Amino acid sequence: MNSSPDLIVIGGGIIGLTSAYVLANAGVQVAVYDRSDFGREASWAGAGIIPPGDPFRTGTPYDHLRALGAVGMPILSAELRELTGINNGYLRCGGIDFLQATDDYVVPLWQQEAIRYEALTVGQLAMREANIASPVGSPYYLPDMAQVRNPRHLRALIAGCERIGVELHANCGFERFLMDGDRITGVQLTTGEVATAGQYLLAAGAWSGAILEAFGCTPGVVPVLGQIALLQTNANVLKSILLFGKEYLVPRGDGRVLIGSTEEPEAGFAKRTTPEGIESLLAFANNLVPALRDAKLETAWCGLRPGSPDGMPFIGPVPNVRNLFAAIGHYRSGVQLSIGTAQFVRELIMGDVPCVPLSSFALDRKAGRMARTAFRS
Ligand SMILES: Cc1cc2nc3c(=O)[nH]c(=O)nc-3n(C[C@H](O)[C@H](O)[C@H](O)COP(=O)(O)OP(=O)(O)OC[C@H]3O[C@@H](n4cnc5c(N)ncnc54)[C@H](O)[C@@H]3O)c2cc1C
Repeated sequence: MNSSPDLIVIGGGIIGLTSAYVLANAGVQVAVYDRSDFGREASWAGAGIIPPGDPFRTGTPYDHLRALGAVGMPILSAELRELTGINNGYLRCGGIDFLQATDDYVVPLWQQEAIRYEALTVGQLAMREANIASPVGSPYYLPDMAQVRNPRHLRALIAGCERIGVELHANCGFERFLMDGDRITGVQLTTGEVATAGQYLLAAGAWSGAILEAFGCTPGVVPVLGQIALLQTNANVLKSILLFGKEYLVPRGDGRVLIGSTEEPEAGFAKRTTPEGIESLLAFANNLVPALRDAKLETAWCGLRPGSPDGMPFIGPVPNVRNLFAAIGHYRSGVQLSIGTAQFVRELIMGDVPCVPLSSFALDRKAGRMARTAFRS
């Protein structure tokens, strides 16, 4: 760690790594520090659902970042594959969203964005997915819904960052900021070393809340445990992603079907799967697709989402600190928002015109109840 880069990123999950990759491509010298291995927390655990979107037609800043991801993910996937040889498994497999009566605001949002969808009759649903039992809700087919395999995408991002000269420091955690008035002069690391840069970006996921408290900044980022089960089936039982509010099935295209996910804020930082959690996921899957009853439970895992009070991330300058930005609180959507977040962070750090108003994700905003968005995963 000899150099003093332009920017130090604290936290190497999908948000920190994608931001580092985008900024380094724009000519910024970036170093990323993670207290453990890169990309092994929430970003590794996620299902990798990428909803469709059109950034030229979105109605809200949140949907704008999501839509930047929808159009950007196939491009980034191809670029990383070319650069690193790693295929992140990006697949436009389509999805079926089963809307409930309380989701009446969703279709108008899709229409505004000209997202392609088709309301399915019972017969049409059976034609698309022969193994679905009795559906609850109104099924809508979204042909442009896609997925990535998170661990592969992270491996590609890490390798891509290395190729373009990002300094990556694993097992080297942030301990505290060194200050001169309202300016950060360096970070004290868990290895005992001090790292310095002109600017700093906090992207430490669910652990960011405690770090910000030093500045009296308490946006409300908390861990929200999510469990996932993976089934091994003999045949391709499903073709499309099935979305039921917060629960979903993601067919991986190789016979595996991922079942997600629980939402357990009460677990705090206790990162563990539970028999009850996995049973609830299996019951959901078996009721919706009875053919999955014969499937083998291959494995289960979990992650701590960086929760926020309204489901929106916090992205922007940290109040009262001159050279610290944050990109945190991406809750259930950090993968789909990662590219849009990285673009917004690049604009903030380089002083460019931002793609969404600066106030959109401000850390000192009053985050109220859950926002209504076009997709909920
Ligand atoms: C079960 C589950 C399913 C999900 N499914 C989807 C999905 O389908 N689509 C979607 O878009 N999103 C999904 N998400 C949400 C998404 O995974 C998260 O929003 C996203 O991963 C957050 O990324 P992050 O980089 O902010 O956090 P993380 O991935 O948690 O990364 C934070 C990093 O900071 C590091 N760190 C912490 N403290 C320190 C410190 N003191 N010093 C240095 N480093 C530190 C950690 O080690 C970690 O590597 C899902 C999440 C879960 C758990």
